[in-house]
Amino acid sequence: MADEAFTPDEIEAGEALFRRQWRFVRSVPSLDFLPAHDRPECAFAGRSNVGKSSLINALARHGGLARTSNTPGRTQELNFFEAPGVPLFMVDMPGYGFAEAPKAKVEQWTRLVKDYLRGRATLVRVFLLVDARHGLKPPDLAVMQLMDEAAVSYQAVLTKVDKIKPAELVRVTQNTAAVLGKHAAAYPAMLATSSQTGAGVAELRAEIARSAKG
Ligand code: GDP
Repeated sequence: MADEAFTPDEIEAGEALFRRQWRFVRSVPSLDFLPAHDRPECAFAGRSNVGKSSLINALARHGGLARTSNTPGRTQELNFFEAPGVPLFMVDMPGYGFAEAPKAKVEQWTRLVKDYLRGRATLVRVFLLVDARHGLKPPDLAVMQLMDEAAVSYQAVLTKVDKIKPAELVRVTQNTAAVLGKHAAAYPAMLATSSQTGAGVAELRAEIARSAKG
């Protein structure tokens, strides 16, 4: 179900990745601007406000790496990050699910994400961030369908677990696992994280190191 075990070596491999200085590479508004596909990459997806920027910053121990969701101009793009000597890109995907988003924006988002998911052979895993207070919502299910269709592996990562009680965490984990179990491209195991307390962050680093090894 939820808990994945990591060996001390795997935890250390994750820490080693993030001892390096991660830096912003570029924003990609369409696939014409992608960096070379010379290394594996993992991407982070989630509804606006899920805590994606905070989690990427916590992973990299770099408060300003991923800007907050409201930075104009960068919210509709794929943001690429790299670190010296690390054969991996991390990609911050644009947040989705704004109820008041204009239709044209939603269409632009959908086109970019579809093209990216289908066209990026080096994309090894998408971490699908899910607010632990809310669980999976319809926009998440729509993105899961896109990933199923593109045959891109994805894994759910609960965020903000500091905001809920242990019993609620058990419940949201079970409910989320039940939905994921019906999706072929989804990993059954998920991670529970908090950027605020650091819970689960070392495990997510280890999972990223695992994904990079293929
Ligand atoms: P994004 O839109 O997905 O990039 O979300 P942000 O990282 O900008 O976070 C959205 C809001 O949630 C901000 O007010 C954060 O301070 C808050 N937040 C993010 N992660 C956590 C967390 O782990 N715990 C708590 N309590 N709040 C968080």
